[in-house]
Amino acid sequence: MSCVIAGGGPAGAMLALLLARAGVEVTLLEKHADFLRDFRGDTIHPSTLRVLDELGLAGRFLDLPHRKAHQLSMVTDSGPIRLTSLRGLPGGYDYIAFVPQWDFLDLITSEAARYPGFKLLMRAEAYDLIREGGAVRGLRYRDPSGEQEIRAALTVAADGRGSVLRGRAGLVPQELGAPIDVLWFRVPREESDPDQPFLRVSSGHVVVAIDRGTYWQLAYVIPKGGHDRLVSRGIGALREPVARMLPFLAGRLASIRSYDDVSVLTVALNRLRRWHRPGFLCVGDAAHAMSPVFGVGINLAVQDAVATANLLAGALRTPAPDPLPESALRLVQRRRMPPTRVTQAAQRLVQNRLIKPALGRRLGPPRLRPDLARVPLLNRLTRRFIGLGVRPEHVAVTPILKRSSHNVDTAVGGEDPVEYPRMS
Ligand SMILES: Cc1cc2nc3c(=O)[nH]c(=O)nc-3n(C[C@H](O)[C@H](O)[C@H](O)COP(=O)(O)OP(=O)(O)OC[C@H]3O[C@@H](n4cnc5c(N)ncnc54)[C@H](O)[C@@H]3O)c2cc1C
Repeated sequence: MSCVIAGGGPAGAMLALLLARAGVEVTLLEKHADFLRDFRGDTIHPSTLRVLDELGLAGRFLDLPHRKAHQLSMVTDSGPIRLTSLRGLPGGYDYIAFVPQWDFLDLITSEAARYPGFKLLMRAEAYDLIREGGAVRGLRYRDPSGEQEIRAALTVAADGRGSVLRGRAGLVPQELGAPIDVLWFRVPREESDPDQPFLRVSSGHVVVAIDRGTYWQLAYVIPKGGHDRLVSRGIGALREPVARMLPFLAGRLASIRSYDDVSVLTVALNRLRRWHRPGFLCVGDAAHAMSPVFGVGINLAVQDAVATANLLAGALRTPAPDPLPESALRLVQRRRMPPTRVTQAAQRLVQNRLIKPALGRRLGPPRLRPDLARVPLLNRLTRRFIGLGVRPEHVAVTPILKRSSHNVDTAVGGEDPVEYPRMS
């Protein structure tokens, strides 16, 4: 039995690691030549840190250059507001780790490569499904040497919100609406600058600043479709509000020479009603595109991967019907749909009730207490929602032996099995 996964983002890479670790033959396809793409989410929340811990990878992850945020703050024209403090969150990790996503993906795929069943194909772009007898039996892809195909008992679309395979399976997401897009750009950072990520809100403007050591990664939020209008007003139309909101950066904004130095990221919020076909499953953004609000998209993608491995690894490593029947795949959707719905509902609320009015200048400085983290019940709820999410998953699959770096098989520390719904 085997599995092929299209898309080496957080969902696909983590699922490939978990399945390979469980002894399943798994091939992961990534269309790019490396993971070195900028402007991807950087936030690893406590829920994902716990998964890394359960996999014995937390130490290596925390050895990567990273910044820790123990609290989330917003700076308004009238001063800072502490929105939540993650301190005291159960589970041992009470912070968000900001790590460039390519480092995270390199770590996950290099760990997966230590298991004999794992294969990674870079510059391999999936473009179609192999269908036989009403079921998906694998996929077709292009690589530098031409067109290829891989057959598998389970084909997974983890190819993100523009998923090609989802479309080839005839699955169309239901759009929930996202009234914003995001412009991403870099500005040099100096040692005397603030050293925490923060959200800056001023009437008509919203910017998120992420400290990446030598530079700031800035996300400037614009109304949906507002890019062309902004570009027609010249680069000053972007520099001016940023300089006003973040005066410490004013002298360095010449580093954004033109809109060629700025990437536009279209925000989408949607989800599939049905995540599967016989032999085929969508996970991560391919099943439910997440808005950047709360920075939880990576974490939801990882949680999907953990649930999928927990529910399907058993069937994939023992003789079982090939392709995997929908009765098995339905369990994944049943498990992950509720957290998806709740998280997207909260993202919609923030997008429509806070960000959109703020961009439309209809919202003055929010009339909030300066320290919401001091409201105990509110802080417990928000820190849990942002840090652990709804229905956090635990790695429940028994690992096989892995190859050590010296090519000698070594046992992997076995965790206690977690109680989990059985596959029918
Ligand atoms: C502006 C913006 C900012 C965001 N910021 C954050 C944040 O700070 N923190 C956070 O947690 N989330 C953030 N998100 C959401 C987050 O990026 C996604 O929810 C998350 O990356 C989903 O992971 P994924 O693995 O499902 O998909 P993706 O991360 O999209 O990965 C899909 C992978 O598949 C590859 N691929 C695509 N098509 C093919 C193909 N045909 N064949 C082979 N490979 C293919 C792609 O190259 C990519 O590597 C943000 C989203 C937006 C729009």
